Amino acid sequence: MKERILLSLAHMGGSEQKYVEDAFRTNWIVPLGPNVNEFENRLEKYLGAGNVVALSAGTAAIHLGLVMLGVSKGDEVICQSLTFSASANPICYQGATPVFVDSEPDTWNMDPAALERAIIERKNITGCYPKAIIPVYLYGMPAKMDEISEIAARYGIPVLEDAAEALGSEYKGRKCGTIGEYGALSFNGNKIITTSGGGALVCPDAESAGRVKFYATQAREARPYYYHEVIGYNYRLSNVSAGIGCGQMEVLADHVARRRQIHALYKQLLADIPGVTVHDNPSDDFNSNFWLSTMLIDPSTGRTPDEIRLALEEENIETRLLWRPMHMQPVFADAPYYGGTTGEDLFNKGLCLPSGSNLSDDDIRRVCEAIRACF
Ligand SMILES: *Cc1c(COP(=O)(O)O)cnc(C)c1O
Repeated sequence: MKERILLSLAHMGGSEQKYVEDAFRTNWIVPLGPNVNEFENRLEKYLGAGNVVALSAGTAAIHLGLVMLGVSKGDEVICQSLTFSASANPICYQGATPVFVDSEPDTWNMDPAALERAIIERKNITGCYPKAIIPVYLYGMPAKMDEISEIAARYGIPVLEDAAEALGSEYKGRKCGTIGEYGALSFNGNKIITTSGGGALVCPDAESAGRVKFYATQAREARPYYYHEVIGYNYRLSNVSAGIGCGQMEVLADHVARRRQIHALYKQLLADIPGVTVHDNPSDDFNSNFWLSTMLIDPSTGRTPDEIRLALEEENIETRLLWRPMHMQPVFADAPYYGGTTGEDLFNKGLCLPSGSNLSDDDIRRVCEAIRACF
């Protein structure tokens, strides 16, 4: 059996263990400490933004973003439909209702026209504007943020970016995660860098970052005894995990560069297969980290993404279908949806390719040969 090629794996740089050992040596084995502070500082420097709070997961970051924006029972929150369920689940944690919006074909992310229709129609139906907008940067690709921000500002609705897949991506030279009121990042095992599990919330100012830390540590008021005025959460990142994050920050730029190289290699090696298109930045305004390289398979080829997936599995290569849109999920069957069939069409035609920064050029060639053999 040929060696297994996986979609995206943790990729250690080498110094992670040093920071983790520091945590043990100094007995900072708690959800705060020097590694947490250092990891936040390095993220702030990398993003060119102050006020990053390290948390236990990207999902926790989205949840606290919604808490900070005052989302509560009975509210509606607009969310991109073509995404991972973790973009939408925290809306339900708050007792609010997700309103799903379709993608557009250039970026595969939130369609600004459908967004505006959703805002206007929800206001007509409920008498209230949605409380927040969650665009997602799928597979690292930035959304059309000028258009989305302009519409959001026109109706006075804050934007919470789900940048879980997009650390290192840029939109018009601005780092993803720093464009909306809040930005959520993930450091899960398969993301561009990992803390084994973890996330961060990019906040607009020091005051809101302080409030996020307060919520993330059980909302304890500053008194000598335990005293609570609001519901809190246990969402802070541990000092051990943050040690892995500190080491990973030293190789983040290399990892992003390597993912972009892998994407360029796929583009080159698959260019001449009719009906196969590797998804690319729609213009120079977009600079994806290409967390995952993806391709569309036109039905005219007579092949479906799942057939390709199974054929590559025979070659011991892992691929994955795109996210199935949230408005097509049984759990969200009752949620309102605005848009057409773009997300659904992408789901029916798309495939995610092995993209880990530890893959070699030869690995990518093996993947491309296996794809070629299908056509
Ligand atoms: C990974 C991911 C999340 C959740 O991050 P976790 O750290 O796994 O909780 C949210 N949204 C998207 C789009 C993701 O890919």
